[in-house]
Amino acid sequence: MEESDILIHNCTILPMDNREPIKEGLIAIKNGTITYAGREAKAPRMRAEEIIDGRGKVAMPGLVNCHTHLAMTLFRGIAEDQPLQKWLKQTIWPLEAKLKPRDVYDGALLGCLEMIKSGTTTFADMYFHEDQVAKAVEKVGLRAVLAQGILEAGVLSLGEKMLRESVNFAKKYNGYADRRVTAQLGPHTLYTCGSSLLRKVREKATELKVGIHIHLAESEETVNLTKQKYGLHEIELLEKIGFLGPDVLAAHCTHLAKKEMRTMAKHDVKVVYNPVANTKLAQGTARIKDLMDLGITVGIGTDGPASNNNLDMFESMKIAALLQKQFYKDPTVMPAQTALKMATIDGARVVGLEKTVGTLEAGKKADIILVDFRKPHLTPVHDPYANMVYSARGSDVDTVVVDGKVLMENRRVKTLDEEEVMLEAQKTAIDLIKRKAPVFKFIKNFT
Ligand SMILES: [Zn+2]
Repeated sequence: MEESDILIHNCTILPMDNREPIKEGLIAIKNGTITYAGREAKAPRMRAEEIIDGRGKVAMPGLVNCHTHLAMTLFRGIAEDQPLQKWLKQTIWPLEAKLKPRDVYDGALLGCLEMIKSGTTTFADMYFHEDQVAKAVEKVGLRAVLAQGILEAGVLSLGEKMLRESVNFAKKYNGYADRRVTAQLGPHTLYTCGSSLLRKVREKATELKVGIHIHLAESEETVNLTKQKYGLHEIELLEKIGFLGPDVLAAHCTHLAKKEMRTMAKHDVKVVYNPVANTKLAQGTARIKDLMDLGITVGIGTDGPASNNNLDMFESMKIAALLQKQFYKDPTVMPAQTALKMATIDGARVVGLEKTVGTLEAGKKADIILVDFRKPHLTPVHDPYANMVYSARGSDVDTVVVDGKVLMENRRVKTLDEEEVMLEAQKTAIDLIKRKAPVFKFIKNFT
C-alpha cells in the first residue's frame, strides 16, 4: 500500500499533456508533488490522510495568469472608459506615486484572494514595492513570478536607481517562499526606459539567470514614439541591442508586422495575450494565430485589475478565443482546447515554469484546481474543454491546491480571512484617494 498525503478520487482529469480527458480519475500527491494522475482502476493501491471527493468535478492544472499588476486591485473601477495615455497620465500614475508598501500589500492580498477563488495558481506580476507582493504570496500559498518595475522616463538617475532596486529584488526573492516565487527584472516599456538602460537590464538578467517582464508594442501611439526616437520598431531596436531571448516575457504585442513576429520567433520570445485589457483600452487585437503559426509560445494575462476589471482567467480565456475568431473571421482559429493550453502549460512555458507546473502528471508540482461541473450552465458534458472555456466561470472553481497544499476547499479559502482582506483593501483604496499627492517629478515628461 503506497502512502500519499492527499488523494483526489472520482474526478474527471484534464491533464493538459498529450493525453485525452480521463474519466474516473485519481490524483495522488506526496510531498507537494503529483505521484499519480490517471485512471483510478489502473492505480496502485494507495492511502492518504486527506481524501478529496472529486465526484462531479473536473481536475485540471491551476491556471497561469502571465501578466498582471496585482496591487492595482485598489484602482478597480476608478477611471473608466478612457484612452490608454490619458488613463495612465491623469489617474493611474498620480495614484501610483502615492503608493506606500503597505498599500501594495493590501492590494496584492486582495488580488491573491480573487485569484484563488477563480482558479489561478501561478501569476506573473510587475509593479512597485514588489517585496510586498512576495510577502502576500508567501502568506496565501500561491506560486508567482515577480518583477520589481523599472521606469526611467527621461531621468537617467531614476532609471539607474530603479534598475538597482529591481536587481536587488531579484537577488533577494528568487526562490523565496519555498521556491514558489521566481524573480524577473521588470523594465516597464520602451517609451519609459531608454535603450542604454535596457541594455543594462539584459546584461543583469543574463548575469543573474532571471527572466525579463516587459510591455511591448501595446499601442500604435507607443510604437510610434519609439519610431520617432530611434527610427526603428520596438522589436527592431530590441534585437539591435541584443535584448531579445527565450527568457523575455512580452506583454501585449498588439502592433507587430510579420517581419517583427519573425524576429520574435527567431529569438523564442514569449508573448502574453491580454484580450480583455487590450479590448477595454481599444488597443487592437494581437494576431495570436500568426504568432503561433511561427512557433511562438503564447500565454494569457488579465493585465492589472484597473484595466480589466477582474482577475478571472476563465473570462479572459473565453474572450481570448472569441476575439481571435472574430478578428480572423474564422471560428476554427482558436479551439477551446488551444485556449485552455494557453492558460495552463503554455502559460507555464511563458513564465519559465513548464518543468514545474502546467500539466497534471507524475513528477510535476501539485498545482491543481477542481471545477464543479454540477451546475446548470455546465450540463451536459459533451466536451469538457468546451464547457471549461465557453461555459465555466471563476466562481465554479471549488478546490485549489498549490504545491500540495489545499488553499481552498468547497470555495472556502483556508489561508486568509476573506472578510478582513476585503475590508482592509477597501479602507486602503479610499485612503489612497484622499491622501495628498507627492511631487511627481517624472510624470512631467509625459504630459
Ligand atoms: Zn500591464
